[in-house]
Amino acid sequence: MTAIDVLLSRYHQLEDRVRGDRSTPEPSMHIAILTCMDARIRVFELFGLIQGEAHILRNAGGVVTDDVLRSLALSQRKLGTREVLIVQHTSCGLSMVTEDDFKDELEKDTGLRPTWAVEAFREVKDSVRTSMRRARRSDFLPYTDNVRGFVYDVHTGELTEVE
Ligand SMILES: [Zn+2]
Repeated sequence: MTAIDVLLSRYHQLEDRVRGDRSTPEPSMHIAILTCMDARIRVFELFGLIQGEAHILRNAGGVVTDDVLRSLALSQRKLGTREVLIVQHTSCGLSMVTEDDFKDELEKDTGLRPTWAVEAFREVKDSVRTSMRRARRSDFLPYTDNVRGFVYDVHTGELTEVE
């Protein structure tokens, strides 16, 4: 049995627990949340979110990349969001690799060197600052006054804002 089979089984056992608003694709809190794919970050539980309230974007690191800017541009321009909450975290996998080592590994195994940045970092606060800067400076985003970044401690659950 694969993990997908397990999840499908859970899905079929769930009751129809619709609590939020399904009537519109526009998030009712007008916010987009960007965070890491890390399995320890339970975004909905962390912020008490219910269906229909927020856009959730996730990638390795929770970093602002061109693809995240694509999603945020659509989120703000077509779906009414006005704020961006960035949450990166302690003991992230991206702090355990380096840009060149991971690219070297891929090139060695495949003969291909990726054109994308790994976005590896040593200090998570610096990575949050870089992502906030990219969002605030993006010409594609009309609403950058409320771009805020945080570090989530996956061990204590503490959330600390990065200035
Ligand atoms: Zn992570």
